[in-house]
Amino acid sequence: MIVYKFGGISVGDAKSIRALLPIIEKQKSEKLVLVISAMGKMTNAFESLLSLYRKGSKEKQGQFNKIKSFHYTIVEELFENSHSIKSSLNECFEQLEVKLEQSEIQSYDYAYDQTVGYGELLSSFILSAFLSEQGVQNIRIDASEFLITNDKHRDARLDWIATKEKIISKVQPAFDKVNIVITQGFIGGTLNGLRTTIGREGSDYSAAILAHCLTARELTVWKDVPGILNADPKLLSKARRLDHISYHETVELAFYGASVIHPRTLQPLKAKQIPLIVRSFLNPESASLIDGNSKTDGEIPSFIIKENQILFTIASRDFSFIDAEKLTGILKLFSANHFHIRLIQNSALNFSLVADENHLQLDDLLKQLQTDFSVKYNRNLSLLTVRHLQNDSLSKLFNYTGVLLEMHSRLTQQFVLHSDVLVDKMKALNDLV
Ligand code: ASP
Ligand code: MG
Repeated sequence: MIVYKFGGISVGDAKSIRALLPIIEKQKSEKLVLVISAMGKMTNAFESLLSLYRKGSKEKQGQFNKIKSFHYTIVEELFENSHSIKSSLNECFEQLEVKLEQSEIQSYDYAYDQTVGYGELLSSFILSAFLSEQGVQNIRIDASEFLITNDKHRDARLDWIATKEKIISKVQPAFDKVNIVITQGFIGGTLNGLRTTIGREGSDYSAAILAHCLTARELTVWKDVPGILNADPKLLSKARRLDHISYHETVELAFYGASVIHPRTLQPLKAKQIPLIVRSFLNPESASLIDGNSKTDGEIPSFIIKENQILFTIASRDFSFIDAEKLTGILKLFSANHFHIRLIQNSALNFSLVADENHLQLDDLLKQLQTDFSVKYNRNLSLLTVRHLQNDSLSKLFNYTGVLLEMHSRLTQQFVLHSDVLVDKMKALNDLV
């Protein structure tokens, strides 16, 4: 058995969906789980739709229509006019509308989980119907039936025991009837049947959970890039592919913000030594292999740029130390307000922390922190993390200009910089890649 994950651009329009057919058909001899995430940039579109409903904005109908016509256009290109997929879509949109209407009085995180995952539901409906239409038999299973989580909405944590049990009892038996099971990434459900989501870009992780529980031979994540690269080619054009790297190195790269794979994906795979392949659907010959046998980690340095960072400098109001207990309290507030922390530095009186911007919850976080601490913060920053560069060319390149914080360990150098400073140095940085 193998697991394939497709999402975003690889299911972004009718042409891309058609192009998946030969990829899937090539795999006919083996049982296949297809994990699908939302089409194109639909998750962002659903997020804004929800915000507009909650604000009661006049623009909500326009946004809803945009989302509908995006999906209907794809369906019209893929199917005959009379196909029943249209009524499935109508039904989805009707359900969604009811949920959006209710969202105003719910907490944001709860409402998010009842609505934003429709991107995944719709794409799985469309792909499943398309494959059936092409004579490729498959069964579609709603991931909320087997990917069991707690009720920390929008960032739900997996209940491994319940999930294993449900995958064995609900997904495995489908393979007695067909060779292909289609499901959604990113969404899950509680044991009480409430929908949840596991965090943005989480569908790689969903696929890894399935691969683990079904003891798959491999997981392939299909992307619009030629594999895992040592930098983001959109920012640094000299980026090169890492042909073979370890689970460990991949987790490190993902943790620092390499967006090609979700950082949680690796743990379930490593536990069963299931190889991960990151392959280009545009050029299927091009791929990176991630497993436990790589001997080439660190042969070329990796450059990770994370934009939209915010640096918090936190100090006690009474000149006391920031001890372990205070630290725990601070970190809990960041977690509760959904701030993803990228870097931490501690001194006797100051605690510095770099996190992804989260405009929605910044005010809440500041209010909560300011009860006990004085808080300063800088915005419009970038975090540059470089692994395996064994020289000081970066320190020389920046020479402290625009650098707010610098941290070096044996394999990793990190710089927190004003974004415009980094932009100025991009050409020189590209030469180091
Ligand atoms: N569709 C979700 C997102 O864009 C999940 C994923 O793509 O992995 O965040
Ligand atoms: Mg996505």
